[in-house]
Amino acid sequence: MKREYDVIVVGGGTAGTVAAIQAGRAGASTLLVEKNAMLGGTMTVAGINYPAHFFAWGRQVIGGIGWELLCKTYAETDERLPKPSEGTRHVRIDAAIFAALADEAALAAGVDILFHAMPAAARMTKGTWIVQVCTKAGLESLRAKVLIDTTGDANAVGLAGFELVHSDIVQPGTLTFGCSGYEPDALDYAALRAASEDAIAAGELVTTDIALRDDGPQALLKKHGHNANHLHAPLADTSEGRSRVEIEGRKALLRMYRFLRKQPGLENFRIDWVCPEVGIRETVTIKGKKTITVSEYESGVVYDDAVCYAFYPIDEHLNDGKGINGRPLKEGVLPTIPRGALLPANSQFLLVAGRCLASDREANSALRVECPCMAMGQAAGAMAALSARTGIDPEEHPIDDVRAILREHGAIVPGDRASQAEPAGPGDA
Ligand SMILES: Cc1cc2nc3c(=O)[nH]c(=O)nc-3n(C[C@H](O)[C@H](O)[C@H](O)COP(=O)(O)OP(=O)(O)OC[C@H]3O[C@@H](n4cnc5c(N)ncnc54)[C@H](O)[C@@H]3O)c2cc1C
Repeated sequence: MKREYDVIVVGGGTAGTVAAIQAGRAGASTLLVEKNAMLGGTMTVAGINYPAHFFAWGRQVIGGIGWELLCKTYAETDERLPKPSEGTRHVRIDAAIFAALADEAALAAGVDILFHAMPAAARMTKGTWIVQVCTKAGLESLRAKVLIDTTGDANAVGLAGFELVHSDIVQPGTLTFGCSGYEPDALDYAALRAASEDAIAAGELVTTDIALRDDGPQALLKKHGHNANHLHAPLADTSEGRSRVEIEGRKALLRMYRFLRKQPGLENFRIDWVCPEVGIRETVTIKGKKTITVSEYESGVVYDDAVCYAFYPIDEHLNDGKGINGRPLKEGVLPTIPRGALLPANSQFLLVAGRCLASDREANSALRVECPCMAMGQAAGAMAALSARTGIDPEEHPIDDVRAILREHGAIVPGDRASQAEPAGPGDA
């Protein structure tokens, strides 16, 4: 590790991995600081390994480095790549292979990766970012021309003193696990639901331990534990809040386990693995130079400074077993993400990408998914590299210069005709 970089990326998750690779490939000396031991963030460590959506309305709308990593993962695991003509859907990836290939791609791009580290302070002094990073050997003082915050929680932006937007209500989190020891098609789900209602009434179980809504454990058992519970997750952008939700997650897991093992057909129910982290849907957003509103999102505004597309229904998970406030996009609507939503208000040489981009709560419930996070990560990485090279703030670059780098690195830029084509993956030409 050096002491001075062009670009420091904080958070090696869905957006940050792509941002660092893009910055490195565009010629910036880049450091990626990650608190966990693996790249991929929610996609790998929280078990949400089914990115949505590369395709919309019969064409590919998100490509670039995220798509490339998906193609490489599929080539490695001998899976056939989906095609836009086959419809819009979540694409499952092998998280372990994805994470290993992400390391490989980052290192090949010249990125230094620092795991088990978090920033303790960040300030701009005389045009340079000084970032204090807490490592196992103590505090390291690092310098960078540009800082990218891809923590999902805007931790670096907060440390640097820029305004964040907190909401009184946030979406629940989910602890994903894998389970077996039963035959899903042989279970009596009506009886299981009745038994769960009794257990909830007796205080042995909480509705959301076994389901996203009040409909018994059928989905959890059929999905073998995948994305099947809800946990209150207030203040999960802080270590204390995060600690509370991790502990609550394991308490809920234990209640669910004890309840299910008492039910007919589930005597041998077992938990095979559990994600090391609760998946967090929502914490804070930045106050940006531009905030994406839900009406802009749902009408598919193409911003003058659009850097990528996004595509997902409104998808706000509700607390207390109330399910999901979901709303599909109208036929043909294809939202975009403007550069301004990645720039904290009043900041310079500072970018974010990922779920904490500037957006209202409903817009955020859609923008937070993995393919838009990858696409905005690539845009942030491109802008950071350009700023490091030219000394010009990301806000001041002619947007065509930003788009040119993105195109050069395979990204799909709003309005480009290339986005109409069927994608080609390795071995698919
Ligand atoms: C239960 C659940 C189900 C979901 N379902 C889907 C789905 O089906 N499809 C889909 O596309 N999306 C889904 N999503 C949304 C999506 O997974 C996330 O919103 C998205 O991955 C966020 O990407 P990100 O890069 O912003 O954050 P993350 O991927 O979470 O990455 C943040 C990274 O920063 C690191 N980090 C955090 N703080 C610090 C710090 N202070 N210092 C250093 N490193 C730090 C983290 O360890 C992590 O690696 C789901 C989310 C959840 C929680």
